[in-house]
Amino acid sequence: MKINIDKEKCTGCGTCVALYPQVFTLDSDGKSKVVDQKSCETGECDCQVAVDSCPSQAISLKK
Ligand code: SF4
Repeated sequence: MKINIDKEKCTGCGTCVALYPQVFTLDSDGKSKVVDQKSCETGECDCQVAVDSCPSQAISLKK
């Protein structure tokens, strides 16, 4: 699974960063970016939780 952030939709609220700081960080533009795809693939990050927790539906998972 690959995590994708839709920067157009992301408001930079920081929820995903608070949940999984090893996977998400806030970029210099104030939007979320993925810094560790592997945690999603290995299951260390329950990325579906991040998807469901994003208030802007900016996070999606792709196979
Ligand atoms: S939870 Fe969603 S809107 Fe908030 S920073 Fe993460 S991707 Fe952006």
